[in-house]
Amino acid sequence: MSCIFCMIAGGQIESKKVYEDEKVVAFNDLNPVAPYHILVVPKKHYESVIDIPENEMEIVAHIHNVIKKISKDLGFDKTGFRVITNCGEDSGQEVKHLHYHVLAGKKLPNYEALDK
Ligand code: 5GP
Ligand code: ZN
Repeated sequence: MSCIFCMIAGGQIESKKVYEDEKVVAFNDLNPVAPYHILVVPKKHYESVIDIPENEMEIVAHIHNVIKKISKDLGFDKTGFRVITNCGEDSGQEVKHLHYHVLAGKKLPNYEALDK
């Protein structure tokens, strides 16, 4: 198995886990860009959001429930946070296993920081 996030989900690569259940694992990003930078990852391998079959889309709702729970557990439900999932080349997606970045703990830059 060569996918990094499959290996983290399977426990073959270490990570700082903040949440785990039978479908999902959430752990701290190796190179955080905010005080909280958590990756929420389904244990099943999908390359990105466009690769989830329609009849398996409930995983997305589950991931959002997990994000909600983590935000309450860590207290940034009150201060706010951002959820990002990169998909494909233009997004700069590096790891080809579906994941949701959860960023929190500071005022995040607005979208004007992006060039057109
Ligand atoms: P992407 O650009 O694919 O949306 O983001 C991949 C993220 O995974 C990056 O923020 C990167 O720091 C993180 N990452 C890559 N490899 C590892 C790893 O082995 N462990 C952890 N915890 N994070 C990783
Ligand atoms: Zn994978």
